Amino acid sequence: MTIGEVSQPVESQWEKICGLLREEIGDAAYKSWLKPLAVRDIHDGSVRMAVPTRFIRDWVAAHYADRMRVLWGSENPAVRAIDFIVQTEGHQRASALRQPLTATAVRATPQLARQRGNGADRDACTISAPLDPRFTFDNFVVGKPNEFAYAAARRVADAKTVPFNPLFLYSGVGLGKTHLMHAIAWQISRQQPARTVIYLSAEKFMYRFIRALREQNTVDFKDQFRSVDVLMIDDVQFISGKDSTQEEFFHTFNALVDQGRQIVLSADKSPSDLEGMEERLKSRLNCGLVADIHATTYELRLGILQSKAEQMNILVPRKVMEFLAHKITANVRELEGALNRVVAHAQLIGRDITLETTQEVLHDLLRANDRRVTIEEIQKRVAAHFNIRVSDMHSARRARSVARPRQVAMYLAKQLTSRSLPEIGRKFGGRDHTTVMHALRRVEELREHDSNFAEDVELLRRMLEA
Ligand code: ADP
Ligand code: MG
Repeated sequence: MTIGEVSQPVESQWEKICGLLREEIGDAAYKSWLKPLAVRDIHDGSVRMAVPTRFIRDWVAAHYADRMRVLWGSENPAVRAIDFIVQTEGHQRASALRQPLTATAVRATPQLARQRGNGADRDACTISAPLDPRFTFDNFVVGKPNEFAYAAARRVADAKTVPFNPLFLYSGVGLGKTHLMHAIAWQISRQQPARTVIYLSAEKFMYRFIRALREQNTVDFKDQFRSVDVLMIDDVQFISGKDSTQEEFFHTFNALVDQGRQIVLSADKSPSDLEGMEERLKSRLNCGLVADIHATTYELRLGILQSKAEQMNILVPRKVMEFLAHKITANVRELEGALNRVVAHAQLIGRDITLETTQEVLHDLLRANDRRVTIEEIQKRVAAHFNIRVSDMHSARRARSVARPRQVAMYLAKQLTSRSLPEIGRKFGGRDHTTVMHALRRVEELREHDSNFAEDVELLRRMLEA
């Protein structure tokens, strides 16, 4: 069946499909990804969809195409595949990779999905890996540990000319390198759509290069990479030790720098510390701006949790966020994972998020993260701070001068260890868990109303954590 022009039914079919998809994926994702699409026509069993940018096309092809195809199929049995075509306002334009239009269309057919699954990527245009829509500058929480890297990334994204070359971002895992790189790509694609951006992992770069060698296709390979405006390669530590890939990378790198194109790289170490990397490459990498992201601080972790909860539109009690920020310190990925688990659990059982459920749900993770602060240490510190004897922590004395410090110690034990209320009670002279609960509530109240007291508790917590 061939329909040359967009007929009313095809458009209304798409509208119907859109309505369904919108419900499935939510308003925000719908607006970012599907609203910009327009149906063109149906040709040889393929529905042709116009997409305004390559980024949107790649993302939609990777994430929504399968579902779209199913919906199209049930709406219109003539449709067996979807072709995405990069077009602006009805005018075909060269895609970001400057290839003929036919070559840039991504065909979402079951066959392609299978080929992808096998890793046999036949699709010439998907050199750039899909970008995560959540990884934008807006969603990046800036704090002391990452402000420099953030500023550098922003500079590269907003500049019309190349401010420094390369920008080299490095940090341990899960601290935001990939997020910042995607954010640069999003920003450029939005503000300067004429500039071509390729973002990919070093592994994929290597894989493509090796395949080009095997298929004796290295000229094409070189052309593809050397014609971009911004080349971003993530996790370049994977290239070290691979001599031929390194050589090719070095040449590509030099060619792009000489032409005034921007390069952005990331790695888990500084250029000087990358083992198995050639000296001349190291020294070139060091020529630009090297920015590292430091380990997170409590404040940054709290900020990130707040921002994520807001994004998910979920009410997470302040206490729970503080608890997570104290406890999950390894990196942001783990922190996000912990929050997601807590949220998913609460939604599943249909209850509010509380400190108790949080501790339950994250039991395994918390044990691993436990900073080996023991209740004995807490008792010793707190006793010293308030000038009482450690034995008073266990005694039956109820005078406020000892009862209050005891309550503080119980509170800190709950905050800083993964002990349960009965366990804590036992360590304080065999008290009942309801006594511990009462102590926690009392300390919370006092913290709110007495700023000196709040400061004392905070100081103790910091000392114990240090
Ligand atoms: P890396 O590439 O350094 O291993 P990622 O960029 O993949 O780390 O970050 C891991 C996760 O943490 C991602 O989901 C990312 O969005 C999130 N993340 C990291 N830093 C921040 C930040 N400052 N603000 C918001 N999210 C962050
Ligand atoms: Mg990464």
